[in-house]
Amino acid sequence: MSTLHYEVAVIGGGPAGVAAAIAAGRAGAKTVLVEPQSYLGGAGTASLVGPWMTNYHRDTQVIRGIFQDIVDELVTYEGSPGTLKCPYDNKDETKGTGGHITPFDPEILKFVYNRLVQEAGCELKLNAYVDGVESEGGRIRAVGLRTKSSVSRLEADVFVDATGDGDVAVAAGARYEQGRASDGLTQPVSALFKMSYVDLDAFIDYTLAHKDEFVWISYPIVPAGLPAHFADRMVCLSGFNRLVAEGLSSGELELGRERITLFSDFIKGDVLFNATRINRIDGTNNDQLIRAEIELRKQVISLAAFARKRLPGFSRASLSGAAARAGVRETRRIIGDYMLTQDDVRHGRQFADGIAKGCFPIDIHSPHDQTNVWVEIDNAYDIPYRCLLPAGLDNVLLAGRNISASHEAMASTRVQSHCMAMGQAAGIAAALAAGGERSTRAVNVKELQRQLRSQRAIVAGDL
Ligand SMILES: Cc1cc2nc3c(=O)[nH]c(=O)nc-3n(C[C@H](O)[C@H](O)[C@H](O)COP(=O)(O)OP(=O)(O)OC[C@H]3O[C@@H](n4cnc5c(N)ncnc54)[C@H](O)[C@@H]3O)c2cc1C
Repeated sequence: MSTLHYEVAVIGGGPAGVAAAIAAGRAGAKTVLVEPQSYLGGAGTASLVGPWMTNYHRDTQVIRGIFQDIVDELVTYEGSPGTLKCPYDNKDETKGTGGHITPFDPEILKFVYNRLVQEAGCELKLNAYVDGVESEGGRIRAVGLRTKSSVSRLEADVFVDATGDGDVAVAAGARYEQGRASDGLTQPVSALFKMSYVDLDAFIDYTLAHKDEFVWISYPIVPAGLPAHFADRMVCLSGFNRLVAEGLSSGELELGRERITLFSDFIKGDVLFNATRINRIDGTNNDQLIRAEIELRKQVISLAAFARKRLPGFSRASLSGAAARAGVRETRRIIGDYMLTQDDVRHGRQFADGIAKGCFPIDIHSPHDQTNVWVEIDNAYDIPYRCLLPAGLDNVLLAGRNISASHEAMASTRVQSHCMAMGQAAGIAAALAAGGERSTRAVNVKELQRQLRSQRAIVAGDL
């Protein structure tokens, strides 16, 4: 069996892992990025999860760095209109978006991710499965790597666990929590889907005349001068409760929610539905995931047909895409040197070792029923470096939705802009800790923050 050696191995190519790999590569480390799918992007591409939710607190940008580089590159390839402000009738409300969204085309994003990862000098191992972890004395020595044509040992000085589920850290003995403290239940899983050829003018005009049908609604501010195939009006909303109740009681509709949440896309006539839902699925259990895949597809087909019949402007719309994989909001949260709390997030707590900012409100899709909890936050908060350090492991960093955060805090940190900000920090920290047997705990946080700033990120004390 061959042995490969890198300074930094990033396992998992979602938004956190992509940013980690780009950052480590840019910091000069010999870096590999491992992803089981044939493309990068994690939930953002495989599960069609979008738009990216906010990188602003009110009108202040708090996430920039690699997130912004990716947005700029998407704009260049007509894969995004950039970040858009979402106003509400009540100026203090941001329900459903966080106040700004960045819509993107997942197909163009796959290309942009490949390009930026390769430009950073990283090696990309796609279609590659991690198969077993060799660890001793709190360090991972190697992970097994299996592809269709090879089985190898992948050694690295530092491993970044960006698997979303903390697979690597847990295999190396890390402790974790899963779900809420009261009963261990996690947020539900959902499959997003897209409909095309919607008469958006008719739809938006209807929403303007019937605002009372919506739990929340916002019309993002679309700048002038965009390409001709981009939408010049957009809407994000959640509602149609009466219509859904009628559909459910007549048997015309099969849906795990009491209302419909949708985001009209930046491509004219496309609408993204984030509306299906199943509770009590453990996203680390494949039998349960298979059940979710089958059930969610039923909901997608049912709601798309229902929308065509019952939503204004949808009579000629087609189902043009659906999540290839069920979107899993929450699984394991690894216990780190510090666990970010609900209070830290709500009250915009600042930390001297803050390596990324968060600004998304707390958005908990109920683990046991159809409701949602949405808690606005006072200010942008810091994510401390210690949340990326799994207790008991010395050459492993966490990034993305598996960092050390409580169930409630994770309901803010989990959005993709935040995952990229943490990924960027993990990537630079990994590069700083690479070279022999050094500990990720010995990384000089001031130097990490300095390098993050030099990659245009916003860190503790910058706002
Ligand atoms: C239904 C739903 C709706 C959401 N809505 C929004 C939204 O509107 N806006 C927003 O910004 N965010 C939203 N989110 C949150 C966001 O999409 C995720 O939290 C985010 O993608 C997490 O990023 P990540 O990189 O940590 O993990 P993921 O995106 O899950 O990526 C993990 C990657 O690791 C790979 N992987 C997994 N296991 C292994 C392994 N053992 N070995 C190697 N690789 C592995 C996977 O293939 C995947 O590519 C939503 C999430 C869901 C599920």
